[in-house]
Amino acid sequence: MSKLLTVVIPSYNEEENIENTARTVLGILDGEGIECELLFVSDGSSDGTFDAVRRLSASEGRVRCVEFSRNFGKEAAIYAGLARGKGDCFVIMDCDLQHPPATVVEMYRLWEQGYEIVEGTKKSRGKQFFLHKAFAGLFYGILNALTGFDMQNSSDFKLVDRRVAELLLAMPERQTFFRAMTFWTGYKSCKVYYEVGERVAGQTKWSVHKLFRYAISNIISFSSVPLKALSYVGTVIIFLGAILGIQTLIRYIMGSAVAGFTTVILLQLFIGGCVLTGLGLIGRYVAAIYEEVKGRPRYIIERDTEKEEEND
Ligand code: UDP
Ligand code: MG
Repeated sequence: MSKLLTVVIPSYNEEENIENTARTVLGILDGEGIECELLFVSDGSSDGTFDAVRRLSASEGRVRCVEFSRNFGKEAAIYAGLARGKGDCFVIMDCDLQHPPATVVEMYRLWEQGYEIVEGTKKSRGKQFFLHKAFAGLFYGILNALTGFDMQNSSDFKLVDRRVAELLLAMPERQTFFRAMTFWTGYKSCKVYYEVGERVAGQTKWSVHKLFRYAISNIISFSSVPLKALSYVGTVIIFLGAILGIQTLIRYIMGSAVAGFTTVILLQLFIGGCVLTGLGLIGRYVAAIYEEVKGRPRYIIERDTEKEEEND
């Protein structure tokens, strides 16, 4: 008997994509004889995403939708999918068909050969704005330098074995970065390369602000190097301060002081800036700790096409 594959599809206001995506993915997987279920996770959509799946599920028992009470973010949607899917393995893919369904088949075949994680890696970043590409490059560059994982061009498009999914779900942390977590586990993995397609319908759900927040929180949840680096910066400043102090003293003794006003102001600004940056950085880590300590659920499920009313 073939094993069950759960395709988890985080969907935020994707009403117009649901039917096409479901039919395309099911068509391709059926053609390959892969037993599967589609699990749409509606991330607090304000359009008819949930109803679109419900309509479909009346005639196609393999599609299901759970809906969050509000927008908890794609990360939460991925985890909800992993927690609720019945599959022996899971593939996470976008709802806009930018992740080619044919690659899902390729991932599944690699899983059959024993790989527990199959990383979908972008061949190129498609038609993204050049600044977006530049920032993505910078973000992964920093992350690579800090964590040692080469995640350049990685994506959330991956296959994970049920064992990996359970391991990820068992981790108590709330501020997760799914894309890096799979690297972190160190399980037997391989890569498949795919060409990012064009979004079939609707618009991207990421604003610049949302992406920036995403980048910062991911670096913070994966590395405390910035926090440690702060003490080094502090040491260097103290050292420079000492040199300047000695110079000032010598000048004072030699009677050629007074004319140092500019230096004082520059130093004030410089040190003030450093202190504030440092405090800000510490503040972000404290905020991250605060979020974890609260231990709130990652998401709240309001509706499920399989069951009525449920919380998580
Ligand atoms: N998405 C989500 N919650 C969000 C934002 C996005 O579940 O808060 C989903 C969205 O519906 C899509 C996937 O994440 O299936 C990728 O989003 P999008 O296509 O907008 O991102 P892009 O491809 O432009 O990076
Ligand atoms: Mg997209």
